[in-house]
Amino acid sequence: MDDIDDVIKRAKETGVKTLISVTEEASEFERVIQLSKIYPGLVAPCLGIHPVQGCGSQDQHSVTMQDLEPALPLFQKYREDIVAVGEIGLDFTPWYAPHIQQREEQQAVFRKQLDISKDLDLPVNVHSRSAAKVTIGILKEQGIGCALLHNFAGRLSVAMEGVQAGYYFSFPPAVCRNEQRARLIKQIPLEHICLETDSPALGPDKHVRNEPKNITLSSSAMLLSYG
Ligand SMILES: [Zn+2]
Repeated sequence: MDDIDDVIKRAKETGVKTLISVTEEASEFERVIQLSKIYPGLVAPCLGIHPVQGCGSQDQHSVTMQDLEPALPLFQKYREDIVAVGEIGLDFTPWYAPHIQQREEQQAVFRKQLDISKDLDLPVNVHSRSAAKVTIGILKEQGIGCALLHNFAGRLSVAMEGVQAGYYFSFPPAVCRNEQRARLIKQIPLEHICLETDSPALGPDKHVRNEPKNITLSSSAMLLSYG
């Protein structure tokens, strides 16, 4: 991204104090750490291996243990620098994980990273798609105390299980396009709701790259949801 200085400048002008820069793959870890050194106090790194790898490439696939392996020493190397472990989680969209083996391997990768978060005493930033119940079940079973479920789209009863476990739910600007989600958000207690942009995805306009300054739009979307 060659206009990163401009993106950061616009975020600051909007009043953003800290932005959490999140990885999906091991190859991104060093870059995010570097970014946090260039913008100290502003960019906070969050490292994790996403359930879907190779996004935007020909090699898009459900995560495997091999994808996690190169990340393991990096979690230790940067343990003092990172603010959370993520994005980790489960994505059972049939397109990515048509077979039970893939869904099981995703769970193994997820559990391993939950162990790491406990070892490092860090919160987790969790992605779940078509897997809400299993995701929350694993978080609880592993004794995770602090979790953020980002862009959650599961059933209300499952969300409430997360609320009871003390978890947080964050929503991006794109929810303003989604009435069903607005109904879900309205039921989640406000003190369990956070804002996110999920840049560069899930912006107010599907076809335009999202960026951190749009966090104000996430808050407008929440206000609308709460009516
Ligand atoms: Zn995600």
